[in-house]
Amino acid sequence: MQLIKTTLALSAAIALIGCAGMSSGGPQKDKTYHLTVLHTNDHHGRFWQNSDGEYGMAARKTLIDQIRKEVAASGGYSLLLDGGDVNTGVPESDLQDAVPDFKGMNMLGYDAMAVGNHEFDKPLSTLRMQRELVKFPMLAANIYQGGKRMFEPYKVFNFDGLRIGVMGLTTEDTKKMVTPDNVKDVEFRSVVAEARKVVPELRAKSDVVIAATHMGHYENGKHGTSAEGDVTMARAVNGIDLVVGGHTQNPACMKAENVLDRAYVPGAECRPDRQNGTWIVQAHEWGKYVGRADFEYRNGEFKLVKYALIPVNLMKSVKGADGKTSKVPYTVAIAEDKDMLAMLKPYQDFGQQKLMVEIGSTDGRLEGDRAIVRSKPASMAVLIGRASVERTNADFAVVNAGGVRDSLNAGKLTYKDVLKVQPFGNTTAVVDLSGKEVMDYLNAIAKMTAGSGAFPQFAGINLVIANGQVESASIKGAPIAMGKTYRMVLNNFIAAGGDGYPKLTAHPSYVDTGYVDADVLRAYITAHSPLKAADFEPGSAVVRR
Ligand SMILES: [Zn+2]
Repeated sequence: MQLIKTTLALSAAIALIGCAGMSSGGPQKDKTYHLTVLHTNDHHGRFWQNSDGEYGMAARKTLIDQIRKEVAASGGYSLLLDGGDVNTGVPESDLQDAVPDFKGMNMLGYDAMAVGNHEFDKPLSTLRMQRELVKFPMLAANIYQGGKRMFEPYKVFNFDGLRIGVMGLTTEDTKKMVTPDNVKDVEFRSVVAEARKVVPELRAKSDVVIAATHMGHYENGKHGTSAEGDVTMARAVNGIDLVVGGHTQNPACMKAENVLDRAYVPGAECRPDRQNGTWIVQAHEWGKYVGRADFEYRNGEFKLVKYALIPVNLMKSVKGADGKTSKVPYTVAIAEDKDMLAMLKPYQDFGQQKLMVEIGSTDGRLEGDRAIVRSKPASMAVLIGRASVERTNADFAVVNAGGVRDSLNAGKLTYKDVLKVQPFGNTTAVVDLSGKEVMDYLNAIAKMTAGSGAFPQFAGINLVIANGQVESASIKGAPIAMGKTYRMVLNNFIAAGGDGYPKLTAHPSYVDTGYVDADVLRAYITAHSPLKAADFEPGSAVVRR
């Protein structure tokens, strides 16, 4: 009996403490609350600074610590949020399942993050490991598994009575952007429909509602064939104060209403987007910036006082008096935090060691020498093309010779070997074209001259090219049919018009998968080793006369 009484008393006490901690009474009357929201997005494996000393989590830590200290000293509160896509982008991170990146986020003290599409690039077991590793919630209200939400939809933070609700949302395009096996029983429901349900629920419990999203910021809501982004949602759903976004990897700085500032220069003033009373921010990508939004809350009114994108050691080239160019920071240089460096260094070293580990082998040489790959069909380009076709379920691939920088010799292969062939970190893009569009495209690139980096290489298609004109083209043995649709895979460089290729990025079906080319090739080599070099001989697939 005594035991039961004590237990009851104890649980009552816990309940009371719980209530006091929550300050369910809400914000104090006539008190001005200062809230600073710090934000990043699309980190993509950049835990370490680049070779120019740009970005990196160690400098990010110095900057964030300094701001948080300043905010706390003046009686304010701060939140650090991320718009998702922590995974995928540099081999040293990818080879370690982004463990250094998530550990770095723990040290930085992130309060919450949105789930990005690239969080599904690896099997769900990897994502599960990452969720266990992080000390903050990964939020997504619209991702379901077996009819139930896979992640927490939101979290409410309480700052001395002021309740901040942060919800998460993830692009519906995730399903078509990742390997189907990884999301077999996972549903990505309509972000707008889900936000319409969750926002009123969250409003009832909070004074301020923030959406941490990975949906993309599209100028004036023009999302094309991509799924609905932040602007569309903000216009369709009332009651969201702020969207901390990601996915489109741009600084969401506006030149005028509904007009993006496409020439945004680091360090310049950034005017965030505003739609239907909702502020929308995005901090480009890779930790290049930390976004800082300073708000005031008083008697139910929430207003933005100041906004800035703070560059993290972004560099510009300047020409000295001696005519030599050197790199200098756009703004003040930020020192790297020693503790963060000490934590990350072993991961960076181990990642570089892992580049030397065998990933597969080939029984013969795959030809990618400059003189050959730029003048006639070459096996290295066929291998690259086939790897990208397999990853994206495309019908055929176009590879620019300039993107093939080396051969692979018979024997064991390492990631380092692959990175010598594809050192640019280009991403893999797909576009669905009608037969007519395919023929127009092929005719445009058939004119690219031998000897140049633009010289086209192919996989999955048979061509006869005479005097720079396509005489015949067939896929899987059947001639290209004008009325049929074909999926073409290529890298984002030529898709954007690089090497003088026709620009495809504005095509309604264009999708940049975000898969780094070298990683696509590495995965293919591992899956098909030992490679038989003869299988990649171009033979007479492409004939020129
Ligand atoms: Zn994304």
